Amino acid sequence: MTCDQIRPRFDDYHDGLLAADVADAVKNHLAACETCKEEYGLLVSCIGVIRGLEAPAVPPRALRNIVDTLNGPLPDLERGLEPS
Ligand SMILES: [Zn+2]
Repeated sequence: MTCDQIRPRFDDYHDGLLAADVADAVKNHLAACETCKEEYGLLVSCIGVIRGLEAPAVPPRALRNIVDTLNGPLPDLERGLEPS
């Protein structure tokens, strides 16, 4: 397979969704092709970052505080954002 045929399959390859023979072809190509190896590495790290973001980035207690703040009285906007 050529680079153009391999690259659209990186996603499924990463998730283990490819048929065994296709996955083998991708694996062999990655072992032989420096450019695709780099591309795949980049994709894997992007997937890691994106999936990491799906986890709650804010602890529940902080969310509670934000909700309470939103439900509470509006801050005095004329004083701006300076600490009082
Ligand atoms: Zn390639």
